[in-house]
Amino acid sequence: MKKPHTVYIHLIVVCLLFSNCYGGARIIGKKAERPLNIILMIGDGMGLAQISAAAVVNGGLSLELFECIGLVKTSSSDDYITDSAAGATAYSTGQKTYNGAIGLGPDSAALKTILELAEARGMATGLIATCSVTHATPAAFYAHQKSREMHLEIAGDFYGKGIDFVAGSGKPFFSTERLIQDGYRVHTGQISPEYVNAGKKLFWFYNDSTDLPRAPERGNWLMTASVQGIKHLSNNKKGFFMMVEGSQIDWGGHDNNAAYTVNELIDFDKAVKAALDFAMQDGNTLVIVTADHETGGLSLNGGNLKNKTVETHYASTHHSGIMVPVYAFGPGANLFTGTMENTKLFSNMKQLLGL
Ligand code: MG
Ligand code: ZN
Repeated sequence: MKKPHTVYIHLIVVCLLFSNCYGGARIIGKKAERPLNIILMIGDGMGLAQISAAAVVNGGLSLELFECIGLVKTSSSDDYITDSAAGATAYSTGQKTYNGAIGLGPDSAALKTILELAEARGMATGLIATCSVTHATPAAFYAHQKSREMHLEIAGDFYGKGIDFVAGSGKPFFSTERLIQDGYRVHTGQISPEYVNAGKKLFWFYNDSTDLPRAPERGNWLMTASVQGIKHLSNNKKGFFMMVEGSQIDWGGHDNNAAYTVNELIDFDKAVKAALDFAMQDGNTLVIVTADHETGGLSLNGGNLKNKTVETHYASTHHSGIMVPVYAFGPGANLFTGTMENTKLFSNMKQLLGL
């Protein structure tokens, strides 16, 4: 007869063999060890307190469906507290750099980004943000500039990159003529589904401005952009890489405005659901959801689940050094568990796409 502890160990081994981060039977379609596509979703300034608050107010989040979850250390090369430029550069290039740097190493040398590597391999690529696409987070995926403030230079780095789908604001920083020369259909305002997948690269500006309104005012724009982006990119047989940013979660933190943050996070979570819905059907898509850092040192000092309210307290109007979560679903998701440096996301993605 087996000793009880032997049986227990066997049980653990069986559980480990069957825990593959697909959420049991929830995945539909064929499983692959490596994904064909990656959707990287960055909630700027999205820490656990922000997620917890939004989960209470919304009565749950799609984020709660993920079973592969890790923790990310976010510091930059020159500061324990990162900014969004260095944070996004760590994700896009696998190198920690100084705060403010866009796609450059600490020595200011340009680094190849995951998006550029995917383009070079013939994959389709996309970028979506709820701000100007010259802002630090999206910029770090295609531009190489010493300062995040150099919006015109960052936009200048966009041309010739071959990015297939772009949605956000920032039109004044770009030349429509040059985009058209580059083979883009440039569209401003509501997207027309017939433009999607019509054989041209698509640059979809929310408006003529450098800004994009807040979540309630812009409706389901981020989710719609994500759905259309996936449609536009998913016909490529070599796969696609798409980055989606919930840009303004961070701005609510800087403003110490919990309602702003929570509305932005719930809006971002709808885009996460759209990506998960696609990935569950497709079976070859890895969805990664994370943050570049936490913003505001938010704590939840009270709340009421029945009334869907939380009491919030901010420790600062800046970023904090606390680790942020990373959620992953799909082939390769198990690489995103445990505690890791932010640079590990790049090396995992590079390895999984074979770039
Ligand atoms: Mg950002
Ligand atoms: Zn910020």
